[in-house]
Amino acid sequence: MAYDSNNIFAKILRGEIPCKKVYEDDFALAFHDINPQAPTHILVVPKGPYVNYDDFVTSAETEELAGFARAIGKTIAEAGVAQGGYRLISNSGVDAHQEVPHYHIHILGGRDLGAMLEKAEA
Ligand code: AMP
Repeated sequence: MAYDSNNIFAKILRGEIPCKKVYEDDFALAFHDINPQAPTHILVVPKGPYVNYDDFVTSAETEELAGFARAIGKTIAEAGVAQGGYRLISNSGVDAHQEVPHYHIHILGGRDLGAMLEKAEA
């Protein structure tokens, strides 16, 4: 899938749409999800134009891969969820219901998050 530079996270990265920023460095921007699913629900997006996880790990420079991974760690520390626990999620494509076609990691925490997935219907 080609990267669409008009997606909402690209607009946030360009400063065209506001966000509630949690953390930023050369590689990533982290901000609060507009529709939080837990007391802590933060999105971490790389600054480069990547559609999803496999695009990112295939196309990004090693420095970007490491920088993004460290930015997630710094955001977890900033959010204060390390002790209580947290879950990282990255949705890709139709089956995972990816809404925004700019690679991102969800950081969820602040409550018991329950099972990882709903049980499939019989
Ligand atoms: P995904 O389904 O993994 O693509 O998740 C996209 C997430 O982006 C959803 O949790 C949305 O609530 C969130 N979202 C959409 N627009 C915005 C926005 N303008 N600011 C912050 N979060 C947003």
